[in-house]
Amino acid sequence: MDISIVVPLFNEDESLPHLAEWIDRVMTEHHFDYEVIMVDDGSKDKSWQVIEQLHANNPRYKGVKFRRNYGKSAALNVGFGQAQGDVVITMDADLQDSPDEVPELYRMIKEDGYDLVSGWKKKRYDSKLAKNIPSKFFNWTTRKMSGIKLHDFNCGLKAYRHDVVKSIEVYGEMHRYIPVIAKWAGFNKIGEKVVQHRKREFGVTKFGLNRFVNGYLDLMSIMFMSKFGKQPMHFFGLVGSVSFLLGFIAFIVVCVMRICGHISLTNSVWFYVSMLFILMGTMLFLSGFLGELICRNSTTRNQYLIEKVIEK
Ligand code: UDP
Ligand code: MG
Repeated sequence: MDISIVVPLFNEDESLPHLAEWIDRVMTEHHFDYEVIMVDDGSKDKSWQVIEQLHANNPRYKGVKFRRNYGKSAALNVGFGQAQGDVVITMDADLQDSPDEVPELYRMIKEDGYDLVSGWKKKRYDSKLAKNIPSKFFNWTTRKMSGIKLHDFNCGLKAYRHDVVKSIEVYGEMHRYIPVIAKWAGFNKIGEKVVQHRKREFGVTKFGLNRFVNGYLDLMSIMFMSKFGKQPMHFFGLVGSVSFLLGFIAFIVVCVMRICGHISLTNSVWFYVSMLFILMGTMLFLSGFLGELICRNSTTRNQYLIEKVIEK
């Protein structure tokens, strides 16, 4: 199969028939063998009935229905698990992403050899204050921290080589960082394509401003996990040792000053500062040690993504 289109959706019943019609038109025009996996993320409207209807009319349409709303990342993760196509394309359900982009995205994966191609909504049709400006800042920080040169990390329209979606796991709110997760998994050829963006015609946006706070916390945990996830001691041990050492040196200095009669130990603020550093250092060091013990017992401690093997 050439293409799997994965569509996460939450209360989008009005858009779905239009989206399906559009996808079918583009796919048949280009003679693709395809499937569309619609993941209903706990919709309360008629989205699921629409999906059942689409499947009845055309078995290329497949559906998964969550019992409740788990979030876009969960929906994508389940869609990735089911996808069979050589190229997997994700697309929002609200008609803001255009299926006309699919053939070129497919070509970039197949012919140009990209592992992942992310859409770039260069001209964006969303509210300026709530989306466009904050997301410029968000993209800038993510670019700096991850070293991936993308303009629009959070674009719903993306294309992946089959292996990529089978090797990564998206959870929580991590859908914003799929390129970062993919890079961490060893898929380095990440490209970008300017894509058409459209105004939302039906329904309302599902993401408010709190996504920025959560977004940054997620970015920090991804960066931390990728650097120290398997070696917590390298972080906690180092910071802890430095803190302990500083505290210890300060303590010696304070003691020497006491012996020379300059100060009284408990009246000196430096005495307490040195104690604080020694304590903090010990705590951090212990955290690192506990982290290592947890890693050692984790079932994923020896799970690696293997690309190729030569045997015999
Ligand atoms: N979505 C989802 N689960 C959620 C929130 C959103 O599956 O909990 C879907 C939503 O139906 C849409 C896509 O994710 O297909 C993008 O959401 P939205 O259009 O609200 O985001 P925006 O374009 O405003 O950033
Ligand atoms: Mg949208």
